[in-house]
Amino acid sequence: MVQTVYNFGGGAEHGDPRQKDKTVVGGKGANLAEMASIGLPVPPGFTITTEECRRFSASGVLHAELREAIAAALERVETSVGRRFGDTANPLLLSVRSGAAQSMPGMMDTVLNLGLNDDTVRGLAGASANERFAWDSYRRFIQMYGDVVMGVDHGCFEEALEIAKEERGFLNDTELDAGDLRALVDTYKDIVRREAGAPFPQDVHEQLAEAIAAVFRSWNSERARIYRRLNAIADDCGTAVNVQAMVFGNRGENSATGVVFTRDPATGERTAYGEWLPNAQGEDVVAGIRTPQYLTRRHRERAGAKAPSMEEALPRVHAELTRYLDLLERHYRDMQDVEFTVEEGDLYLLQTRSGKRTAAAALRMAVDMVAEGLINEEDAVLRVEPMALDQLLHPTLDPDASREVLCRGLPASPGAATGRIVLDAATAEAWAARGEHVLLCRTETSPEDIGGMHAARGILTTRGGMTSHAAVVARGMGRPCVCGASDVVIDMAARSVTIAGHRLAEGDAITIDGSSGEVMAGTVPTREPELTGAFGDLMLWADRHRRMRVRTNAETPDDCAAARRFGAEGVGLCRTEHMFFQPDRIRAVRRMILAGSAAERDAALDALLPAQRADFARIFEIMAGLPCTIRLLDPPLHEFLPHSDADFDDLLEPGGPSRETLMRRAAELREVNPMLGHRGCRLGITYPEIYAMQARAIFEAACDVADATGSAPVPELMIPLVATAAELAIVRDKVEAVAREVMAGRGRALPYSVGTMIELPRAALTADAIAAHADFFSFGTNDLTQTTLGISRDDAGSFIHTYLDQGIFTRDPFVGIDRDGVGRLIRMAAELGRGASATLKLGICGEHGGDPDSIAFCEEVGLDYVSASPYRVPIARLAAAQASLRARRSAGPAA
Ligand code: PEP
Ligand code: MG
Repeated sequence: MVQTVYNFGGGAEHGDPRQKDKTVVGGKGANLAEMASIGLPVPPGFTITTEECRRFSASGVLHAELREAIAAALERVETSVGRRFGDTANPLLLSVRSGAAQSMPGMMDTVLNLGLNDDTVRGLAGASANERFAWDSYRRFIQMYGDVVMGVDHGCFEEALEIAKEERGFLNDTELDAGDLRALVDTYKDIVRREAGAPFPQDVHEQLAEAIAAVFRSWNSERARIYRRLNAIADDCGTAVNVQAMVFGNRGENSATGVVFTRDPATGERTAYGEWLPNAQGEDVVAGIRTPQYLTRRHRERAGAKAPSMEEALPRVHAELTRYLDLLERHYRDMQDVEFTVEEGDLYLLQTRSGKRTAAAALRMAVDMVAEGLINEEDAVLRVEPMALDQLLHPTLDPDASREVLCRGLPASPGAATGRIVLDAATAEAWAARGEHVLLCRTETSPEDIGGMHAARGILTTRGGMTSHAAVVARGMGRPCVCGASDVVIDMAARSVTIAGHRLAEGDAITIDGSSGEVMAGTVPTREPELTGAFGDLMLWADRHRRMRVRTNAETPDDCAAARRFGAEGVGLCRTEHMFFQPDRIRAVRRMILAGSAAERDAALDALLPAQRADFARIFEIMAGLPCTIRLLDPPLHEFLPHSDADFDDLLEPGGPSRETLMRRAAELREVNPMLGHRGCRLGITYPEIYAMQARAIFEAACDVADATGSAPVPELMIPLVATAAELAIVRDKVEAVAREVMAGRGRALPYSVGTMIELPRAALTADAIAAHADFFSFGTNDLTQTTLGISRDDAGSFIHTYLDQGIFTRDPFVGIDRDGVGRLIRMAAELGRGASATLKLGICGEHGGDPDSIAFCEEVGLDYVSASPYRVPIARLAAAQASLRARRSAGPAA
């Protein structure tokens, strides 16, 4: 029979490999077992497997064998701590926490202090000789259990607590004495009876079973589902449940709780960075209810804080903790995020996990750890999340720009963000959906705010520390965040904020700098990032390990230059129509498409030729000998048609066609379904002069640049929207004729190639025939996704989220490649194409070329290169390296 429950700590075995497998016991469970097995002080407990969560989700009940296994595991915990669960003299209390294979911080439920009832609370008071502590624990337990298990709004309890404080004229919970808390417990029990329609359960075993069931249920809560969708975590993994003996950080001044990172999660600096609170329970640090204190004296002094660091207040415990942190880092060979509790001078580690970090920190740590000999270059390349680089590639505040700093908070997640103030998550989502840049401004955030945090450019909170929900989630999402900005006062009723005396309304612009913690009035200009130091080192290693080439989708000189700075190895897609839309050219383009005769068309094309030639020459110069794929005109002529009276007036010229004639021709060219209409190579077939002009411009530019620089550019002419081999054969012949003519005229023989996009299912299905006329294929996965799924890429936005919510798609197929459908066509086309032509080069230039998961797919299919927009180039370089390394590692040492 498969084991369903595993004990850890307190002398448990930890021998079964399943107990170190995150998919079985979750990340937290695996790490608790690991920590216990290397001798670290972990309170004993047990983990119920994720398999049981899946079983529970299907049946809705904890089945009898599981209940028996839990009872047996509990008995072992009782034996190891020497206390019994439900004992009225000296009760064992438990924490019940979720723990999935992939960390989902704050998304699922937790119950602490479980096992308290009207009798055991007295036992706890006696055993701890601290009546206040016992009643405080009980009222916290009723609130948590009432909320998580019985569905009572936690606001009801908070309101009662506020009233109790008000009645006594107190500001802090800590001022309430044992008598106050005992009265509050009665009030809380009344609230439960009133709100849930049932009494608060006194049977501790019922409490345990119900709490476990509630944690299992929380796997499917709405916020957990949203989080999984945003982080591409599958819905069917389930969470494990960890039941553990409670240790208390709130048993007096010799007790404490805290969170510590083994290195600084914001900068990557090799120094433990943490926060602690004396006489507090674990959740107090995360919830941001009390402002935490610095762990080390150095950090406290640097911040100019008064409250003592743990290093100063509890030096012996701090030294012990430092030793354990060092051990954990060497054991896991990665930065750890550790939760600890000190109970009356005894230190316990409650959890360790690989710590979330900013991209800058991830880079620095990876590079430092190679230098320290903890990991090797390959590990470093695999360790940095490619999409995280995005944080480093985006602008920071221009240091020379003037700014009005209104106040300062904690620099919780780096990068600068400007946006209009919004005061709640729903508004953030609504305004962002209509294209506004918004900045979410909250007292503190909670998991319910996750959608709004994602929609916002940045996040500003007035309360909470570097490990508060806002800080942790913002770093994970790569959103700039300033938190704990206590000079910001939010007035929800008036929908306004006052920042250090300045009153601003919701909708007013502010700027935050998540690297310095500054909050500024209005919009402050930003500046491009530097790509040196650890970034440069890691990219160098990534390039050493990647097989696929990385090119860019770019057509303007600025974009080409940016892409080269980011390491692009050529242009994978130059969309020439972008050059047609420029204001100075559109008139010639319109004259060309509305021409009544070949002569009129030639005249218009003659006007375009020099402009195109100059564009191409500029690209060839910037790319300096690297291959450049230039796609001939693709979009429907429909898109260039004049609309307004002024557009038509602009086209009139002496001796030219009349206004009426132009309007009639424009009407004739309008299409019902232009995306499937007169576009792509169909234009080249019906109006061969257009492609001939573009080919001439390309070859002449290549000759010009070769003459001027002495190095020959490598033009690759790409034909769009090919469905049949015959189309490509016809267009190719014409292009080659132009090449011969230009080169003969210039007395040169420059290398060039002609290929096609594969962006229609028919092209993929007949790729062998098409390959006979192509030097390369470039998968245009935007159109290929559109035509394979029959979903308009321009209209999908209005319904795709419903498809994602219902699990029909796990990712938007226009963002991540649909492996089973579109992917299958790509695989088939690659095989057919290569079968027909061994020298055929294969690449991808749809948006998927910059998406790490799709890049992994491209590696599997064996493409030669991916092409991504300039800012995605470093991401693609790293993702391609990771794909190569993973492929090599899974092929084994012989590969
Ligand atoms: C594509 O269809 O994937 C492509 C790159 O072309 P465009 O986006 O210009 O249609
Ligand atoms: Mg396309």
